[in-house]
Amino acid sequence: MAAKKPTVWFDEQLYPHVRQGLSIGRVLFRERTPHQDLIVFENPTYGRVLALDGIVQVTQKDEYVYHEMMTHVPILAHGRAKRVLIIGGGDGGILRETLRHKSVKHVTMVEIDRAVVDMCLKWMPSVAGRAFEDRRTELLIADGAKFVAETKQRYDVVIVDSTDPIGPGEVLFTERFYRYCRRCMAPGGILVNQNGVPFLQPDEIPMTRRRRAKSFKVASFYMAAIPSYYGGLMALGWASDDARAANVSLAVLRRRFAAAKLKTRYYSPEIHSGCFALPAFVADLAKR
Ligand code: SAM
Repeated sequence: MAAKKPTVWFDEQLYPHVRQGLSIGRVLFRERTPHQDLIVFENPTYGRVLALDGIVQVTQKDEYVYHEMMTHVPILAHGRAKRVLIIGGGDGGILRETLRHKSVKHVTMVEIDRAVVDMCLKWMPSVAGRAFEDRRTELLIADGAKFVAETKQRYDVVIVDSTDPIGPGEVLFTERFYRYCRRCMAPGGILVNQNGVPFLQPDEIPMTRRRRAKSFKVASFYMAAIPSYYGGLMALGWASDDARAANVSLAVLRRRFAAAKLKTRYYSPEIHSGCFALPAFVADLAKR
């Protein structure tokens, strides 16, 4: 009887004393790009998985949670968003969910690494679907920090779907970057950003809150649970000068959600309404 092939593991080593292992069914693609190490592999539980610099970015089976919460919460809270800016987001999931809002007329996506876009389209096409072919999409391969510092365009919603604050993504967590995001937002604009898993990345909470508060009247967070970003709830950063935007009534959210005719798998007006209620330990971290 043929010896059973040993299981090959992808070991995500984001933390010194805790790590996540995903068995690798097949490596579909691997390359060191000019910006980062990129791998796409198959896992029986999560389906196809994209990892950058050894860190899980997106999986086929749970990507809808993060992508729905990073798009529908700011867009439905805003209520009249026509122009959206996505920083990062190379897998196309945020773009896909944003374009589901027929009221959105233009989306600029600024991704630093062309290979992420191309390899996700090739090996994980279900994530972006046909979003890159949409006539409302303007895709720029560039550094997001440079773009917001120079652009003359203005946006109602800015979504920062970046890697962690290491490598090419580090600049997307700076006070200067948030200040320039503010500069290219229209009045009443909303900025959201991936902000780590507070239980394992507690420092990211006070760090980004302090830096965003320098440019915005409101700098807080909302929460979502993404299975492949292990360590419990994930924090998503929220910033705006419009204090009402984080407190839209459930009745108004239900009306806007119905009008948008969205079928979702995680997002709902009720989830939206509750996601700004922070666990006490996160609220404490945010006060630091
Ligand atoms: N959802 C994932 C997370 O929360 O960890 C992020 C997914 S998305 C693939 C992250 C993207 O940010 C990558 O494609 C990466 O190339 C891009 N990125 C990193 N630094 C960037 C920068 N300075 N400007 C634009 N895109 C950047």
